[in-house]
Amino acid sequence: MKATCWHGTRNVQVEEVPDPKILNQRDAIVKITSTAICGSDLHLYNGMVPSMKRGDVLGHEFMGEVIELGSDVRNLSVGDRVVVPFPIACGHCLQCERELYSLCENSNPNAWMAEKFWGYSPCGIFGYSHLLGGYAGGQAEYARVPFADVGPVRVPDSLTDEQVLFLSDIFPTGYMAAEACNIQPGDIVAVWGCGPVGQFAIKSAYLLGAERVIAIDRFPYRLRMARDKGGADTLNYEEVDVHEALKDMTGGRGPDHCIDAVGMEGHAPGLAGAYDRAKQAMMLETDRPVALRQAILACRSGGTISVAGVYSGFIDKFPMGAIVNRSLTIKSGQTHVHRYMRPLLDRVEAGEIDPSFIITHRLRLDDAAEGYDIFGNKEDECMKVVLKP
Ligand code: NAD
Ligand code: ZN
Ligand code: ZN
Repeated sequence: MKATCWHGTRNVQVEEVPDPKILNQRDAIVKITSTAICGSDLHLYNGMVPSMKRGDVLGHEFMGEVIELGSDVRNLSVGDRVVVPFPIACGHCLQCERELYSLCENSNPNAWMAEKFWGYSPCGIFGYSHLLGGYAGGQAEYARVPFADVGPVRVPDSLTDEQVLFLSDIFPTGYMAAEACNIQPGDIVAVWGCGPVGQFAIKSAYLLGAERVIAIDRFPYRLRMARDKGGADTLNYEEVDVHEALKDMTGGRGPDHCIDAVGMEGHAPGLAGAYDRAKQAMMLETDRPVALRQAILACRSGGTISVAGVYSGFIDKFPMGAIVNRSLTIKSGQTHVHRYMRPLLDRVEAGEIDPSFIITHRLRLDDAAEGYDIFGNKEDECMKVVLKP
């Protein structure tokens, strides 16, 4: 089959690889009909995540048709149209039973590697490094889906691929980030990053009752989408002092909740940015936590910092003093996607939200390298690339 393979920093290639096979009776093989490139894939693309190997198949946002099933998968049939959640979860361990699916204790065969970095291992993830299991991803013609009796959700024919594809990751991710804020009537939520995750965080904050959302980025077209499609007020951090502007917009108190939808590759003009870039290049710091630091300092005392952006390792100049002295709460996590797929599918079916608003580029799988390039460089007003095998 054809698959999008990682070949080093800023080098992906679509090439022929062996077809996936059923390895376990709880597996399914899915023929992929739509797949997307995620901001998390950019961390791999930019060489920020350790333990990638040449030839690794990328992709963790995908859906398609079940073409083969292991004998223990009784809830699906060949021919079913399914969306697959990006975390791989067994459904039966202690974490899965608590619906903390991205912490599944049974899906990362390389748990020992993750334990060295993080103390304990989270779940395995499709196409996301050997540290997280070394699973082949879904930017391909076919994928093997482990624990297929737990993850994939059947979708109705009345909805298009584009309306349901993002149940695999970014819609639940934005939703979980907003849910973590425990939004109360009247609350103001600030969202750093107007990429796909930020856009879904904005929508979700309103779905969960926010009075006002303020979105922060530097790309005018992304800020425009946050305003026009999300109903947010916007700040361009290259034009205003974000801290001061947020203070002015919130009666001097700061936003009640701050969502970081930027992650480890935060961009900062000036000295602070140069400092993080230099430390990251010298491996003295693994992440560039520009947005996170700003979110912590900007938040109302007693508020929530909800971190959807992915961080991989160690950061410095972390304002712990602000957290302690101002009673801030930090919430984070790789999304427990399984928990959200059905309720969010219900919202899509009910017409409360149509997640396809985010798509700006539709390419053939063969053109995946171009897709990474355009999305990675935020060229051509690119917000989200969908690939069609
Ligand atoms: P993206 O790269 O399209 O968007 C990131 C946005 O952040 C860009 O628009 C960029 O301009 C903006 N940005 C950079 N520096 C900023 C700053 N200092 N202040 C404000 N905005 C800034 O990526 P995406 O797909 O939206 O993903 C965003 C993050 O969410 C990534 O880190 C990704 O890995 C993460 N993510 C996490 C999960 C999860 O399970 N927790 C799931 C999916 C994605
Ligand atoms: Zn993702
Ligand atoms: Zn589990």
